[in-house]
Amino acid sequence: MLVERMRPFTSTIFTEISRLAVETGAINLGQGFPDTDGPASLLADAAANITERGANQYPPGPGVPALRAAVAEHQRRFHGLTVDPADVVVTTGATEAIAATLLGLCGPGDEVVVFEPTYDSYAASVALAGATLKPVLLHPPAFGFDDDELAAAFSDRTRVVLVNTPHNPTGTVFTPAQLTRIGELAVAHDAVIVTDEVYEHMTYDGVRHVPTATLPGLAERTLTISSAGKTFSVTGWKVGWVHGPPELVAAPRAVKQFLTFHGGAPFQPAVANALALGDDFYAGVTADLTRKRDLLSAGLRAAGFDVLIPQGTYFVVADPRPLGFDDGVELAWALPERCGVAAVPMSVFCPTGAGAAATRPLVRFAFCKRDEVLAEAAERLAGLATATS
Ligand code: GLN
Repeated sequence: MLVERMRPFTSTIFTEISRLAVETGAINLGQGFPDTDGPASLLADAAANITERGANQYPPGPGVPALRAAVAEHQRRFHGLTVDPADVVVTTGATEAIAATLLGLCGPGDEVVVFEPTYDSYAASVALAGATLKPVLLHPPAFGFDDDELAAAFSDRTRVVLVNTPHNPTGTVFTPAQLTRIGELAVAHDAVIVTDEVYEHMTYDGVRHVPTATLPGLAERTLTISSAGKTFSVTGWKVGWVHGPPELVAAPRAVKQFLTFHGGAPFQPAVANALALGDDFYAGVTADLTRKRDLLSAGLRAAGFDVLIPQGTYFVVADPRPLGFDDGVELAWALPERCGVAAVPMSVFCPTGAGAAATRPLVRFAFCKRDEVLAEAAERLAGLATATS
């Protein structure tokens, strides 16, 4: 019965691997969610919004004013962007922002350029819109794109180029030069740039996240998406947002009314306050995740993997070929049973055969877990070499 365009999307790798992890009792480094809660002030604020402040009915359509103002202020403080709170639309997570944006901008005949491996909801949302996906490969191990391949993906049917930086699942962070080149092509083909920046506060080793909207001439054609889920370790709250010039942001604003109407009433004002937390909070996010990245990367290396050190996100890509595995899908399905750790294969994030072939051996591990959990995972993974020999 399922409509044809959604038939490839009956499940997600996160659902499957998390189910397997629960069944086998494995440490779940597959689906990316933290195993600690966000800042205490944020949690207390949301609880009080429910029990003391009566924030339990529909919030205003585009989001509570305090959150829209806080998003605008956050963009000024961290990225030097001037955003009018009137041009911020609060959504049910970045996921809804992506879906509402694509549904609002694209239809049959339109093309959407994405970078593969690509976050799974992109292909599904493009399919929902009835538009066509045009993937450009991020070549391992550095996960850069080839300029000719990028240029060839654009045409007079290109409606949107969907950028994700810092990039899930590769951990790469697009450079200003790469973003500028994407921008040139978007201008040449009069395409809208949609940029998913949910990992904006997670970059390492001095690498800086550069929002596309900060580059000369690009703000006027860019919709910027982010979310509270990653930054504040509240992935289950689903508070996200999208902002951009009024004529562009009108698209997701219209569509989201008919996806969820409006949600997250008690969470929105709490996230507004959290966005204003001091620099020490944000520095702590980076410091903690740098340590966790290094802990897991060292564990994976000791276990015999080649490790592709990420510049951003909370995912690390590992190449198991030194251990004798050349199929990441097979490995990800065997790993929980074999050594009690779950990971996700990279090739499932690739809509094309070329992308799947290029990433075939690779697996992605999430490191947004307590240090002792990462240490235990590393110890378990160390058994993989002996289990195979
Ligand atoms: N964004 C998270 C990840 O990439 C999980 C998303 C989800 O479960 N849909 O692991």
